[in-house]
Amino acid sequence: MELRNVIAGEYVESGELVEKISPVDGSLVASVHVADVGLVDRAVRAARRALDSWAATPVATRAAILRRVADGIEDRFEEFVAAEVADTGKPATQARELDVARAVANFRAFADVVSAAGQPSFLTELPGGRQALNYAVRSPLGVVAVIVPWNLPLLLLTWKVAPALACGNAVVVKPSELTPWTATLLATVLSDAGVPDGVYNVVHGSGATGYALVAHYRINGVTFTGSTATGSSIMVAVAPKVRPVSFELGGKNAAIVFADASLEAALDGLTRSVFANTGQVCLCTERVYVERPIFHRFVEAAVRCAESLAVGDPAEEATDVGPVIRPRDAERIEAWLKEAEDGGATILTGGTRDGSFIAPTILSGTRSPMKVLDEEVFAPVMTIERYDEFPAVLAEVNRSRYGLQAGLFTRDAARIFEAYQTLEVGGLIVGTAPTWRIDPMPYGGVKDSGLGREGVRYAIEEMTEPRLLVMAFR
Ligand code: NAD
Repeated sequence: MELRNVIAGEYVESGELVEKISPVDGSLVASVHVADVGLVDRAVRAARRALDSWAATPVATRAAILRRVADGIEDRFEEFVAAEVADTGKPATQARELDVARAVANFRAFADVVSAAGQPSFLTELPGGRQALNYAVRSPLGVVAVIVPWNLPLLLLTWKVAPALACGNAVVVKPSELTPWTATLLATVLSDAGVPDGVYNVVHGSGATGYALVAHYRINGVTFTGSTATGSSIMVAVAPKVRPVSFELGGKNAAIVFADASLEAALDGLTRSVFANTGQVCLCTERVYVERPIFHRFVEAAVRCAESLAVGDPAEEATDVGPVIRPRDAERIEAWLKEAEDGGATILTGGTRDGSFIAPTILSGTRSPMKVLDEEVFAPVMTIERYDEFPAVLAEVNRSRYGLQAGLFTRDAARIFEAYQTLEVGGLIVGTAPTWRIDPMPYGGVKDSGLGREGVRYAIEEMTEPRLLVMAFR
């Protein structure tokens, strides 16, 4: 199979092909046509040409088209699941429940919200007692560059494309070079649903293509999800043109478990949070801190949970944990585990690598600056440490440069409030899995985890700018 760039409704080849390799068995998934600076420029110009009439299309029409997009993904549901599994190596059950189902929901959610959104207007008094009508319309940003990572390729893309299109923007999308398929497949669904040519364009390639896109002088905004390092480079690339950016970046999420918590709820929440998508979600919990009186009981139960997970072929329905995305990531993770072990940490379960498969791993006795404790591991790996004092554990959580979400398991309202006030995170999740994101939330991180918020209402704000009209009357 060959995947081409999508520019103004055409499937465009380039002189350069790269191979997309399966994370499961190293086989060829697709040959991908990489966009150079010239093709990126063509895509941005195509978006620019399509923009005005799309922005002028009545909101109700845009919303109806987006609802047809949701129907279109549903009609080809299993095709999207197969593409997502082939690209990412994620278990098919997770692709079905998490990625594709929620991608459908996103197009419906944004269609509903733009249809219902009113525009604020108010009267003011001018000097001399005259009155003026103040009216602010939220206008689309224009041509938006959408750059997404490989771990939830379709879902993360729809959290950006659905609000961008709902608000009347045109987009140029650059999916990850590791997961190019579903963004390309989505182009056919959008076109069949009635999205005009040029409103949704796709350019393929790695960082160089992404850089050419975000640095293009006709881009009016950038929405990026990916690593903090890439986010910083994009910030520099867009700086000369001063335009809106929104960043969803890395995480190193922690959970704190008090002795008064329901052990069952904490274990259930945390095993889901640690091992979901083979530990490759920005929201996965990687650090767990357990109050001393229940530490041993918790560790024994967590080890049992980790050992009960089925590791294997993601296409099998029974599989819980698949391969990590690339052999080189598996090697990095193995090296980080070894560094921790050599430094005195104990691997309580797992710690082994078979090709790109990392066994669900729990380790304890870690300390800074071990990479498993300080860096985003992005693997089915968690550290568990004990604590005695609440302020000390809150400070330990805050020691991370990241601040996406944190989890807390306790029944004590005063502690919940203290954690809420103290923790430097975008969201605190109490009593359930800290890997939690639903559409109405203001979702995003602080510190090195991001800038701006997604979530239905918030994304609509990010994808538009208020344009003020003041009319004075005699
Ligand atoms: P990455 O930063 O390596 O790549 C992300 C995207 O940026 C890819 O499409 C890549 O080709 C592109 N890119 C790379 N260099 C670029 C440049 N200089 N200019 C423009 N684009 C460039 O990230 P990844 O490895 O694909 O994804 C994993 C990371 O994403 C993790 O850190 C994870 O925590 C983060 N993530 C965050 C969220 C969130 O909501 N906060 C969600 C998912 C993933």
